Parts: sequence; structure tokens; C-alpha cells
Amino acid sequence: MLREKGVSMRGWWFALLAVNLVSMEPDAALERLQKGNQRYVEDLLEHPDRTSERRSAIVAKQNPFAVVLGCSDSRVAPEIVFDQGVGDLFVVRVAGNVAGPIEIDSIEYAVEYLNASLIVVLGHQHCGAVDAVMQGKTQDIEAIAEHIRPAIAQCAQNKVTSLDRCVKENVLFVTQALRKSSVIQKWVEEKKVRVVGGYYCLETGKVEWMD
Ligand SMILES: [Zn+2]
Repeated sequence: MLREKGVSMRGWWFALLAVNLVSMEPDAALERLQKGNQRYVEDLLEHPDRTSERRSAIVAKQNPFAVVLGCSDSRVAPEIVFDQGVGDLFVVRVAGNVAGPIEIDSIEYAVEYLNASLIVVLGHQHCGAVDAVMQGKTQDIEAIAEHIRPAIAQCAQNKVTSLDRCVKENVLFVTQALRKSSVIQKWVEEKKVRVVGGYYCLETGKVEWMD
């Protein structure tokens, strides 16, 4: 489509890079999510960044302050549980919040070109994908299960049988996998990007943070 309009891919990338993006400190980004989640838990939602003015302001460029790699589960929508609006979060959702090559490419893009400074891997209570791998019932989610199995193997080795603890183990495995990406690693070493884990409780709405 870009080529039909006479814009080369090279020109497109240069135009994209020329956009002046602001980067938030990783700790400030985390604090913003923590405060938003607290509002969600306490029924004190502010619904920021959802006006027509905000919509107009981000037509030409997006500048999300954080990436959330979350599960597709309908009960764990990042913009809702963190009380954020349009253009705030770069969200990658897949059952089991796994990081395969497609998810990693998406996250690297947000860090490298959109200046997102925080990456959150968000697992949750009663995660069906993690449970399926624990139960060995993966015939319908084989591609996803492949990425969850290392965490479950670690749990089995440590004689951990609780689903919640395995969900957390999976989150930790995924955060470690992301830190191994050369693009992400570079920014983490320069302290311009932080990778953290989160565990969402369906009952309370609260996110428990893990480094
Ligand atoms: Zn899930």
C-alpha cells in the first residue's frame, strides 16, 4: 500500500524516526501504571486520555509510555486494569502471555521506535493456557504450549503444583526471555528501559509486581 502511494519503505522509516518522541523514565512509567491500577481496584477510575482532543493529538504519531505483554483473557484488558487511555499502552496480547518471535518483534518495535520505557509481562489468576500445559491438555494450543512448557518443567522440578505459582513462574520466564533480546538488552543496560512482571488477581483487580 505504501508503495502504491509512491512512498518507499526507506522514506517511511525515516519519516517515522524523525518524529519527536518523548521518553518517560522507566520508574515513572511503572508508578503511572501502579497508580492507575490502584484507582481501578478502588473504583476511582479517571479514564484519562479518552477525549476527542487526545484522539486528534495522536493521529500523526503514537508515543506509548509502556508495553504490556498480556494474556488474551477477556478479564484482563490492560487499558482497563491500569486505567489508561488511547495511545498510552502498546499492548501485545496472546494466550499465556508468551514471547515467541512475533511478540518479541512487536515489543522491540515499541521500544526502539516508539520510545516506550517499560515492558510489563502480565500474567493472571486462573490462566487457562498455563493450566492446560500443567494438565498436559495442549492439543488445541500446541504453538503456545511450547513457550509455556519450560516454566512448567521448572515448577515440576521444584514440586510446585499450584496454578498461581506456575503462572508467576511463566511470567518470570517470559521476562527473562525478553531481556535476552539484543534490542531490549541494550536499552536495559543503559537503564532507559525496564522489564517487570505482574500478576493480576481476578478477585481484587490488583496487580502484584515482580522484578
Ligand atoms: Zn490467561
